[in-house]
Amino acid sequence: MSAQPEFNQKSAEGFEMFPQLEIPHTLAAGPGPGNTDPRVLARFAAAGVADHMQADVVRGMKEAKAMLREVFGTKNAYTFGVCGTGWDGLDCAFSPILPGDTVVAFVNGTFSGIDDFNIRLKASTPQDLAADPLNPKPANVVTVNVPHGESVTGEIVEAALAEHKPMWAFMAHWETGSGRVNDIEGFNNACAEHDVMGIVDAVSSLGIGYFNIDDYPAVTTWASCPQKGILGLPLTYAPVSFNDKVIDLLKQRGCYTYVHHPILEARHWCIADGEDVETAAYHRTHSGYAVASFHEALRLLLLHGREMKAADYVFYEKGLRSAIEAMGCKVTSNMPSLVVFDLPEAFEGKEKELVVGCRSAGFAIWNTLSEPAQIRIGILNQLTVETINDIVGRFADAMIEMGAEVDKVQVLDDLNSYLASR
Ligand SMILES: *Cc1c(COP(=O)(O)O)cnc(C)c1O
Repeated sequence: MSAQPEFNQKSAEGFEMFPQLEIPHTLAAGPGPGNTDPRVLARFAAAGVADHMQADVVRGMKEAKAMLREVFGTKNAYTFGVCGTGWDGLDCAFSPILPGDTVVAFVNGTFSGIDDFNIRLKASTPQDLAADPLNPKPANVVTVNVPHGESVTGEIVEAALAEHKPMWAFMAHWETGSGRVNDIEGFNNACAEHDVMGIVDAVSSLGIGYFNIDDYPAVTTWASCPQKGILGLPLTYAPVSFNDKVIDLLKQRGCYTYVHHPILEARHWCIADGEDVETAAYHRTHSGYAVASFHEALRLLLLHGREMKAADYVFYEKGLRSAIEAMGCKVTSNMPSLVVFDLPEAFEGKEKELVVGCRSAGFAIWNTLSEPAQIRIGILNQLTVETINDIVGRFADAMIEMGAEVDKVQVLDDLNSYLASR
């Protein structure tokens, strides 16, 4: 390895050079990204230089596709990874929505709010876009707002679909903004009852909750992300799965994208005409490094066991939740990977300041990104006694520094007697 160039070196053309980028290790204790397993990073770094059509890169994609079907609990042929982040997977999921299509979207926090925005972009006619280019409001999209801190229930979905009878319905499975689990069974049943095609944002639930998407056949489309339950952050695939109903619709009507076209993108994953095929058809230049790390992330998830991992999240979240409550905070979430809470009344309005202080000390927690102001602490891949102790201990220190009366020793004692109970 060559020595790091001195700061202030100039490029041959005289450009003032930056030093090499150093990124510190933080304790990733937010809603995402999760803490990438070192074994995933090792596969990334160990991959050789190989192009996107090299046999082992293509084999890696085929194996990843098979593992993804297992992770989703599906037989859907059109199950693969979309290059990019969660929003890429969701963009692919929404791409079959054409201008003028009727949609009902359920929003109960920041992320379903952004999903609703993307749906409005897709369902807009040119006139809708011209009327409000950066925030179109096509009349054919109905947004049902559920208050922050509450879940979308089957009753809410049933009532809205009965009233509006749309072509499509959208819901987030777990809304990460408010930390709420929404009623997927109720959503599926209402979609089935009213012959609506359901689209679900499973960014926060895939790889964390234990569910099989084939149990929800009226949900035609699922999309997730690389950085939460899948924990494959180093370049990155957003898992998606489409059932035959939506693929048939796409065959009839098409859609307006090349990169995020479900049928076209699937060709590179060796899926054609609804079947697995031997040969990949070039769609874009996949990175062998990304394939190797994604493959390892999926292997680790399946080796841990989907059900076991889900149980681990439930167990450790319960410990974290009790500790946060013991510090006088009010938890309003019900997600197994994330605790969303209000500070004690005396400290209301200090959420941002507290989070900024923690983050600057390498303890990466989050505030909410939309109203109301709350704090979010997550445990993605932090499923050990040591890391939960570290998270609770650091948060207790931050509360004490802010002036709260917290008995840190007692909180940690109680946490550890709970953790020892398993
Ligand atoms: C994190 C998240 C997203 C966005 O994922 P990116 O990887 O940031 O693109 C979308 N929806 C939900 C529910 C999320 O939690």
